[in-house]
Amino acid sequence: MNELSAFENFRANIDKAAKILNIPESDYARVKYCERELLVSIPVEMDDGTLKMFEGYRVQHSSLRGPCKGGIRYHHEVNLDEVRALAGWMTFKCALANLPYGGAKGGIAVDPTQLSERELEKLTRRYTLRILPFLGPNQDVPAPDVGTNPQIMDWVMDTYSSMKGYTIPGVVTGKDIEIGGSLGRNEATGRGITTVVKEFLMINNISPSDTTVVIQGLGNVGSISAKYIDELRCKIVAVSDVSGGIYNPDGLDIPSILEHVRKKKLLSSYEKGEFTRISNKELLLTPCDILIPAALQNQITEEIAENIQTKVIVEAANGPTTAAADEILMKKNILVIPDILANAGGVIASYCEWVQNMQSMRWTVKQVNEVVQSHLIESLNLLIKTSQDYKISYRQAAYVVALERLVKAYKLRGIFP
Ligand code: NAD
Repeated sequence: MNELSAFENFRANIDKAAKILNIPESDYARVKYCERELLVSIPVEMDDGTLKMFEGYRVQHSSLRGPCKGGIRYHHEVNLDEVRALAGWMTFKCALANLPYGGAKGGIAVDPTQLSERELEKLTRRYTLRILPFLGPNQDVPAPDVGTNPQIMDWVMDTYSSMKGYTIPGVVTGKDIEIGGSLGRNEATGRGITTVVKEFLMINNISPSDTTVVIQGLGNVGSISAKYIDELRCKIVAVSDVSGGIYNPDGLDIPSILEHVRKKKLLSSYEKGEFTRISNKELLLTPCDILIPAALQNQITEEIAENIQTKVIVEAANGPTTAAADEILMKKNILVIPDILANAGGVIASYCEWVQNMQSMRWTVKQVNEVVQSHLIESLNLLIKTSQDYKISYRQAAYVVALERLVKAYKLRGIFP
C-alpha cells in the first residue's frame, strides 16, 4: 500500500467523515484546502559572522469558526505538507473541542539544538517579521510546538508588539507567565492526556492500578503525561526519548526519570534502578494496556500495527499513526483515542490564555484546569456516543463531530463575495 502524505491522509479522513454524514462535496470542499500558505526565507547572521538561510512556513487552514490558531514547530524535517496537515488538524481539533477558533500551523526547517540562544532569537524575530502582516489576536495566534517554548513565544510577542507600537499579549499563547502567559498552560497538554486516560478507564470500569502504560517521548507532553499518569497509580512499564527507551515490567521510577530529563539529559544517560534498555521500535511493541505516542508523527506504521501488543492507543503526538496502520488497528479492534481529541488540552488552555489577554484578566490555575477538563470530558463523551451511533471508530467519530460543526459554520456564513 502506498502511504499517503500527512495532508493527503487528513483529506482522506475528511472524505470518510463526509460520506458517513452524507454531505455533498460542495458543502465541505472548503475544508479540504488551506485558506492561505506562506513560505518565507529567513536570513540569520550566525555567531561566527556567516550568513545562513532558513526556510519557514505559516499555513492558515481555516478561519470559518474564528481566528486561526496553531503552534510553531522548529525541527529539521519540517516541510510544507506536514505544516498543512498540522494546520488542518488544528481546525478539526478546535471544532471538536468547540473553541471559537480556526486552525493554523507554522514551522522552520531547523534543528534548534544546533543554534545558540542569540541565533535562535534572531531566527524567531526575523520569521515573525516575515509573517507579521498575517498575525494578530483576531487573525492568527501561534503557540509552542515541537522544538519551541515560552521564551520563543515571548520573542514573537515582543517583535509583533514592537512593530505595532504597543504591547499585544494576545497575539501568541504559551508565553511566560510574567508577560501574559496563563497559569496551567505549560502542563495542559500532558494533564489533558491524563484526564482522557482517567475518564476512559472510568467509563470502562477499569482500575488505574490494573493498567499498564507505555509512553514514547519525554518532552513537554510526554513527561507531564508520565508525571500525572504515574500519580493516577497506573503502572508505567516503558518510556523513551530520541536516544531510546527503558523497560521494566514491574513499573519504572517515574519521578526519578523525570528529574533526570528535566536537567535536559537524555534517557540514554539515565542509570538509576532496574530496567532493560530497548529501542523505540521495541517500545512501541511492548505489551501494555495503553500506549501513548508523545513524540512525532508517523511512528505507528503498518509494520508496527501488525505486531503491536496494546489494547488502547492515546495519541498525544499529532499524527503518530499512519493511515495504513490505522486500518490495521481497526481490524485488530485496538481502540485509538485520536490526537485531535487526546492532545486538545494544550489548545484549550491556550484559549484560556487568549481570553485572559483579550480581557486583561488573570485566572487561577484551578479555573484554567477546570475549563480544560470540562471541555475534554464533554468532547470524549460526545465522541464515544457518535462512534456508537454510527458504528465507526473514535477517529472517524472525531472527524464527524468536527466536520458537522464546520459545515454548519460555512452554511451560516456563506461565501464572500
Ligand atoms: P518536545 O520537543 O518537547 O518533545 C518531543 C519528545 O520526543 C522528546 O522527548 C524527544 O526526545 C522525543 N523524540 C523525538 N524524536 C523521537 C523518536 N524518533 N523516537 C522517540 N522519541 C523521540 O515536543 P512536545 O511539545 O512534547 O510535542 C510532542 C508531540 O505532541 C508533537 O507531536 C506535538 O505536535 C504534540 N503536541 C504538543 C502540544 C504542546 O502543548 N506542546 C500540544 C498538542 C500536541
